[in-house]
Amino acid sequence: MASSSNAKPKLAVVEDNPDNLLLMRALLEHDFDLTTYRSGSQALQGMVKQLPDLAVVDISLPEMDGTELLARIRQEPSLAGIPVVAVTAHAMEGDREEYLRKGFNGYLAKPIVDEMVLIQTLKSLLAHSARSQSTP
Ligand code: MN
Repeated sequence: MASSSNAKPKLAVVEDNPDNLLLMRALLEHDFDLTTYRSGSQALQGMVKQLPDLAVVDISLPEMDGTELLARIRQEPSLAGIPVVAVTAHAMEGDREEYLRKGFNGYLAKPIVDEMVLIQTLKSLLAHSARSQSTP
């Protein structure tokens, strides 16, 4: 009946803080099919089995931080092309440029105060990556 209405983009959220994870889930699960991970190694293991369309990565993670996780994602052939968005707390002037220069595809500052900005940022990255994949 309601056939393939389950066409929500698949989003991997990597976040070690349970409160932030709850917030992200509350804000995003209406529009996205969410899988959450609590660490970089968990994310790498999970994402190769369940390929996301987009990854949202907290920078401040135990053992492997978000920047290292990005490097590992880019080294893994099956994951290398996934757009990755950095999320940082205590955002500073110039952070956006720094993280984009490091190779992230997008940047969000915590606390997430504007749900629409969050969702639009993710949707525009998804649209962009869909276009670039269809380009020869
Ligand atoms: Mn964190």
